[in-house]
Amino acid sequence: MYGEEDYLMLSGIQHFAFCRKQWAMIHIEQQWAENYRTTAGELMHKKAHDAASFEKRGDLLIIRGMRISSRNLGLSGQCDVVEFHHDENGVSLFGYDGKWKPIPVEYKRGTPKENNADELQLCAQAMCLEEMLQVYVQDGYLYYGENRRRSHVDFTDSLREEVRNAAKEMHELFQRGYTPNVKPTKKCKACSLENLCLPKLQKTVKVRDYIEKGIKADD
Ligand code: SF4
Repeated sequence: MYGEEDYLMLSGIQHFAFCRKQWAMIHIEQQWAENYRTTAGELMHKKAHDAASFEKRGDLLIIRGMRISSRNLGLSGQCDVVEFHHDENGVSLFGYDGKWKPIPVEYKRGTPKENNADELQLCAQAMCLEEMLQVYVQDGYLYYGENRRRSHVDFTDSLREEVRNAAKEMHELFQRGYTPNVKPTKKCKACSLENLCLPKLQKTVKVRDYIEKGIKADD
């Protein structure tokens, strides 16, 4: 169980899944480089959050920008959209008759990714909702801006376990203030921090080796 003062940004789990070093540079070192990807993503989120925060359409309640947190995961953040569907297995909501089942929906630029970073983020949101509302959240949706389609996500035991492990590792790194070194891969090309990280330098000689070489040359 984490105290509120230890909460980390929930949305960081997608950075963590993409690259642990990227997450550490953003969330531990507080470095940030805007590029097309991040800016376009933010605009899309802004649109989701700017709209009315609450809407009712028949048997459907839609809440935008709902604040969420989990003491078990030590994460806090915001859901783009939470849909509450009339369902007898749901929870009571103040001011509304019957029971309502929450389904988180996260908006993303582009198309589904090769890794499961988006699914992890959505699952972490669901685990927050479960803890806050004391209800089981079975599934959710990722909405991709490029193809304008919803992609269904089932919150399986293994996905939940991955979320727990990622959150635990994020807290361990954060407490140590440690930025892990990772091997550069082709995904570095799509990384908003490539110019700050300079991943290719990791492939070149280590500073110590470089100095030792220089000393030997002077000899
Ligand atoms: S450039 Fe590559 S190694 Fe560096 S933070 Fe980005 S993805 Fe990670």
